[in-house]
Amino acid sequence: MAQYTPMIQQYLQIKAQVPDAFLFFRLGDFYEMFFDDAILAAKELEITLTGRDGGAEERIPMCGVPYHSAENYIARLIEKGYKVAICEQVEDPAEAKGVVRREIVRIVTPGTIMEDKTLQSSANNFIMSVAEETLQDGGQRWAIAACDLSTGELYVTDFEADQEQLYEELNAYDPAEVIAEGGLQAVVHRFHEQMNKKMLITTSGTRDSEIAERHFPQQELDALSSAARICIDQLMTYLYDTQKRSLSHIREIRRYDKQQYMILDPYTRRNLELTETSRDRSKKGSLLWLLDKTVTAMGGRMLRRWVDKPLLSKQQIEQRQEAVECLVGQLITREELRQQLREIYDMERLVGRVVYGTANARDLNALKQSLRQVPQLIELAVSSGSETLQQLVQDTDPCQDIAEWIEQTIVDDPPISVREGGLIKPGCDEKLDQLREASTNGKRWIAELEQRERERTGIKSLKVGFNKVFGYYIEVTRANLHALPEGIYERKQTLANAERFITPELKEKEALILEAEEKMVDIEYDLFCRLRERIAAETGRLQKAAEMIAVIDALQSLATVSAERRYRKPLITDQYDMEIIEGRHPVVEAVLGADEPFIANDTKLSYDECRMMLITGPNMAGKSTYMRQVAYIAIMAQIGCFVPAGEATLPIVDRIFTRIGAADDVIGGQSTFMVEMKDIQQMTARATPRSLVIIDELGRGTSTGEGMAIAQSVIEYIHDRIGCKTLVSTHFHELAHLEQSLKYLQNFRMDVKESGEEVTFLRKLIRGAADTSYGIYCAKIAGLPESIISRAYQILNTLEIRTSELQSAVASQPVQLSLFDDVAAIQESSEQRQPDLQHHAAQPPAMQTLQPDVQP
Ligand code: ADP
Repeated sequence: MAQYTPMIQQYLQIKAQVPDAFLFFRLGDFYEMFFDDAILAAKELEITLTGRDGGAEERIPMCGVPYHSAENYIARLIEKGYKVAICEQVEDPAEAKGVVRREIVRIVTPGTIMEDKTLQSSANNFIMSVAEETLQDGGQRWAIAACDLSTGELYVTDFEADQEQLYEELNAYDPAEVIAEGGLQAVVHRFHEQMNKKMLITTSGTRDSEIAERHFPQQELDALSSAARICIDQLMTYLYDTQKRSLSHIREIRRYDKQQYMILDPYTRRNLELTETSRDRSKKGSLLWLLDKTVTAMGGRMLRRWVDKPLLSKQQIEQRQEAVECLVGQLITREELRQQLREIYDMERLVGRVVYGTANARDLNALKQSLRQVPQLIELAVSSGSETLQQLVQDTDPCQDIAEWIEQTIVDDPPISVREGGLIKPGCDEKLDQLREASTNGKRWIAELEQRERERTGIKSLKVGFNKVFGYYIEVTRANLHALPEGIYERKQTLANAERFITPELKEKEALILEAEEKMVDIEYDLFCRLRERIAAETGRLQKAAEMIAVIDALQSLATVSAERRYRKPLITDQYDMEIIEGRHPVVEAVLGADEPFIANDTKLSYDECRMMLITGPNMAGKSTYMRQVAYIAIMAQIGCFVPAGEATLPIVDRIFTRIGAADDVIGGQSTFMVEMKDIQQMTARATPRSLVIIDELGRGTSTGEGMAIAQSVIEYIHDRIGCKTLVSTHFHELAHLEQSLKYLQNFRMDVKESGEEVTFLRKLIRGAADTSYGIYCAKIAGLPESIISRAYQILNTLEIRTSELQSAVASQPVQLSLFDDVAAIQESSEQRQPDLQHHAAQPPAMQTLQPDVQP
């Protein structure tokens, strides 16, 4: 260390505080990086690596970025998953003795960005904290907290230590950064690898519980479980350590119970493409893409959270439905709402920046303009006649006083910078007005000076000008110099064919103007900061108004799609039975051209008759589209949206399991079959009679015999032990015989029309099993040579003869049994097939209505 210059020593001391971040070390107009940071940053940012003498023999590697464009470079490093610590000069270099004092003022991390440019407006940017607590009985509880620093939202929940549940939450929030320690960090790493998500996993170091105590009211903290408290402490320690400033916009800890929302495991989310497609992870083509008719950024994020967490409370679903229904019927109100919403900026993030201290005068004007829309919005909500909307706006404070403060203080078109004046309206501050007056008078005097001087000297070409180095001057061409009177004019600058002068009077006025301007800039900045702080103190009211706007926007979005796409309001029940008449797949329907009508199909799943549908049919017949459509309809209904069906009676589904092949055949290096088996294992362990299970192509990926055997035993298990609503498709049409032995299973198939060798897909679901899987027909459509096709038919024929021989051999077994045992024994064996549900005899009891205390 000693060999280095004092500045490099200072650098090294500060760098030691942030070993895992790039240190942006302020030197004049640049942020410099040194040593390994410089080498890596030069590569990542594609900037030139240079060197600098630092006292040691070897030059120190160095690279730098200009202060004014640093934001872009920081954004690029964050995007790549790094952290950046910003180190500023914290004393005036002119007054410093020795090396200027420097400190880290903020550490930017992927989960704590505040910069609008880097944030995606339609999605939250969550940082999560994951923590564990060991209970007295030796068991463990885990807690998660998810915070969006840009908006101030904070959600918390805890649950029995369980990797799957943790994965569900990690997947639902899709955080940019996760804080975890010890063993839990390894669990998060595994999730990260499996899901292949962009996410920085970090630690918080020592946890300081006083930070949360200073930040939140005691009763908020008292309400937390101890696991949740550890989690919050860990999060708040990290946030304060990295941000080093007020974070008072994080006001409320929104606790929820995982059981308040439909559970969707990571694979199901991906399979169903709820918020992004599995192929290229784009929003286009996902359910959210279809439903998103929001106008504001806040509404867009709210809707995304709704899609991520469908409700389980009938009452809450019906509340949303009521608003949607009301708006579906009122095109004009909907249009008016959208019109009003279009004028609203991202208030949540504006408020975040106000508290954070980075909002400029334009931001405040954007906030004002947004607030100005609120009274009209409230009026529209009231006049819509929707009880839900009326209740929503009932206690919302329109915050017009805040809009008024801004109106009175900030000029209409302020500059971006808040440190160069030009922000504050006249009449706000007496001193400022006086200085302005003085400055204006001085400027007027100077403006008139040219004329006066021309008259005094008789030089028509005399000019008065201003430049940054010499200030105001009087310019006279060389040819006219002789006409200047002696004594008054002091030579200041000589040009090629002119001279510039000043006079004592001009100097005096100039000093006055410059002094006034300097003072004005200071006063304006001060007034601006005071206004910003005053608004920051009203964060709670503003956040409530912003949330109300977001909910209105999300509801109008659901209403707009529902109206445009002719969706119908489903009847939500606490029962078991599900009935969908003329159901459609919302996304496939939306992307089919007008000349290709979507063929609607019914779904009837009932406790007494059909709990399980076994669907056979050729490839491309529409099996997986049909099964996904049922899942989509359930999810859309529980979000509060109308559904693509002629009519629907829908029970509340507690979770949806899907096992749908195709897109991700190899996840994390596991074979398709292994992945399928793991999914099935999860499903058998966690499904309840209230769940919806969808398995596409059960049993593929292994040999025919084994695949079929596993498929059959899985079906039997779900049928006998779980009893949930289940849709299974399989290409083993041989499994159709299960209809005879499983009381609640029914065969279905996708209808096709055959004429000669041609097969037409009718996309209609009908009762009964398909007798062939038409695989060879598919091969033919795909253009395989005729010789392969005819040979395949030949082989198939021989195989089928053998299979039917085999089947008649198996089928003869029970017959033999009946020869030796009496009828009662047979009945007994068929009774074993009855589902062994807890609520065996009657319908399962009505779903317990849970009242979430929050609606993320
Ligand atoms: P399978 O699962 O039987 O192989 P898919 O469900 O993948 O078949 O359907 C194949 C294609 O057929 C889909 O991509 C879709 O374009 C079309 N399709 C499916 N169902 C329908 C329907 N009900 N109406 C119109 N087109 C459909």
